[in-house]
Amino acid sequence: MIRRVTEHSTAAPRLDAAVASRLKRDDAGLVAAIVQQHDTGEVLMLGWMDDEALRRTLTEGRVTFWSRSRQEYWRKGDTSGHVQHVRSVALDCDGDALLVRVEQVGAACHTGTRTCFEAGGDLRAAVGGAV
Ligand SMILES: [Zn+2]
Repeated sequence: MIRRVTEHSTAAPRLDAAVASRLKRDDAGLVAAIVQQHDTGEVLMLGWMDDEALRRTLTEGRVTFWSRSRQEYWRKGDTSGHVQHVRSVALDCDGDALLVRVEQVGAACHTGTRTCFEAGGDLRAAVGGAV
């Protein structure tokens, strides 16, 4: 029996070319990913994705980031239990930001607060316009 080995069968999976071609990556090859709770609209956190992190996020049902501090892939919740289950992923108009809508289990922030913006705190901006 002759086994036909193609380049495709041995190559590592790649991000869909049509998606990859639309990404506008920064100098480090990353795109910002805003993570939002799908039903309440809470903005939970901001992370960074390279092509492989996005591929995993689009195919595995769990959110994977690229950790700039640790220089490694980081699937949210693997160590903390605070898993993000993917509901949808959208790309913005010019391809430099992703909106990842999730079901967040527990705290999104590593400090233990629900969102990273609770942990960081309000900066007391002057309020503009009619209130
Ligand atoms: Zn945080």
